[in-house]
Amino acid sequence: KPLLALRSVGKTFSNGVTALADVDMTIREGDFLSLLGPSGCGKSTALRLIAGLMTPTTGLIDWDRKAGDDISVGFVFQEPTLLPWASVFDNVWLPLRLKGVSRGEARPAVMELLERVHLSGFENAVPRELSGGMRMRVSIARALVTRPRVLLMDEPFAALDEITRFRLNNDLLELWQDQRFTVVFVTHSVFESVFLSSRVVVMAARPGRVFDEIAIDAAYPRD
Ligand code: ADP
Ligand code: ADP
Repeated sequence: KPLLALRSVGKTFSNGVTALADVDMTIREGDFLSLLGPSGCGKSTALRLIAGLMTPTTGLIDWDRKAGDDISVGFVFQEPTLLPWASVFDNVWLPLRLKGVSRGEARPAVMELLERVHLSGFENAVPRELSGGMRMRVSIARALVTRPRVLLMDEPFAALDEITRFRLNNDLLELWQDQRFTVVFVTHSVFESVFLSSRVVVMAARPGRVFDEIAIDAAYPRD
């Protein structure tokens, strides 16, 4: 049974705009799934529905209930939305802090993740001292610090220059291969979707529908 399935999902907003119509999609545990499509085809809407930030107008979002007991979800948006006055350490600690974990208790997890995103030594920096790529790294560490089962990413690297983006693609892939969380990654970059994903769901616009689905693993097996 998939971890998550969208079954005939449609979403029409109160202004009459239909962003999604009759979308079926399954996400298996450990997938790195990309949603690829042009601007306005409903990718973000699909992600927000998966996150439970909105409810579908028709159809349903079907989480595997057995797995569903403790499904936690991490988010990464294009804008890192870090606390500007807080250090890198405190920004990454925040989700744990909200769960009542003290700074000292959080320290091993925070430091390990900072190492994984290549930010060791930057614990005490504040966001404005960092490059855009480094702020995105902080954002990824923050999203993963609670060890969520699912990581939802909405065009996370779209605002970064190509080299920074490529480095982040590589480091994200390394993290995923190591920790095996499930990723749903929204992008309009064909390169990014094919490079990162085990499966690409191609969406067509107006109203958003699934146009095709491509299994990348079958073409390029990974270790
Ligand atoms: P994408 O992420 O693929 O660019 P979106 O899911 O953001 O697409 O948007 C799909 C369509 O729904 C667009 O036409 C957009 O203008 C519209 N839309 C998105 N959010 C809202 C909203 N809250 N209210 C009304 N229309 C919306
Ligand atoms: P990334 O690919 O991580 O975004 P950049 O290309 O922005 O990295 O920067 C390359 C390296 O330069 C960083 O990994 C970091 O070591 C260093 N660096 C960049 N900006 C700063 C800064 N504001 N303060 C200190 N070191 C920096």
